[in-house]
Amino acid sequence: MESITVETYRVKTFRLLLPLWQPFRPGMHYDVRLTAPDGYQAQRSYSIATGPETRNVVDLTVETIEGGEVSPYFHDIVEVGDQVEVRGPIGGPFTWDGSMGGPLLLIGGGSGIVPLMSMLRHRNSTACLVPTLLLYSSRSPENVIYSDELDALSAAGNGFEVEHTFTRTTPDGWDGFARRVDVEMISEVSDRLGIVGRAFICGPEGFVETAANALVDAGIASERIRTERFGPIGTR
Ligand SMILES: Cc1cc2nc3c(=O)[nH]c(=O)nc-3n(C[C@H](O)[C@H](O)[C@H](O)COP(=O)(O)OP(=O)(O)OC[C@H]3O[C@@H](n4cnc5c(N)ncnc54)[C@H](O)[C@@H]3O)c2cc1C
Repeated sequence: MESITVETYRVKTFRLLLPLWQPFRPGMHYDVRLTAPDGYQAQRSYSIATGPETRNVVDLTVETIEGGEVSPYFHDIVEVGDQVEVRGPIGGPFTWDGSMGGPLLLIGGGSGIVPLMSMLRHRNSTACLVPTLLLYSSRSPENVIYSDELDALSAAGNGFEVEHTFTRTTPDGWDGFARRVDVEMISEVSDRLGIVGRAFICGPEGFVETAANALVDAGIASERIRTERFGPIGTR
């Protein structure tokens, strides 16, 4: 473990220095395996947050889940210098790189922003100009992960916009979205892109289900939509 960065009060980024770093596509993940002294093992998947242009290391951004086996271990036990067993990079359908084009609609709920951030970092590092809009749903402003970096990317004026929606608490004077993702919201943001060439949705099971249905109801062809659920079901 090379470094640990606090992102929000529930989320930290763990930078792993890999003995054998391998090229990957934005959207891929690593499997992390923990082994207890009695041999009991727990394995979970964590998306790669860095873009493939960042060599030798990968960042995994982990939200702590109360009562969870693996995420609290990362948050409370793992320290800089520790070794962690990982396998990867893994993934297929839920990946994007600049050669796939767009316009690109990214929809993230909570820690579902992580693989989308890898896509955005790749887009930025390669000076890719594919029009891209991120719709990012968080409970409150305090829960927004990568907040400063997202602001900087959208201020760059190279065809990337971020639109936040807050489902519980909004900033003072907020006049943006303040509800769960729905068809009207999808229609409004996709109108801004003109046409949605590719859409990627990532987050908890229920969030992904709702957002994917809203995209289809807004007239976006299902073959353009890729989803990743941060639960037992995985990619579709
Ligand atoms: C492909 C893939 C990529 C993923 N990438 C990331 C990532 O980048 N960052 C990240 O933080 N997580 C990511 N996840 C989720 C991660 O793999 C774990 O599921 C999560 O960290 C919970 O593991 P745990 O061992 O702490 O909890 P568990 O011991 O598995 O679960 C404890 C309890 O919490 C519930 N629970 C599990 N997950 C959630 C959740 N997300 N929200 C609310 N309740 C939950 C369970 O149903 C259970 O009741 C990804 C999952 C997949 C499939």
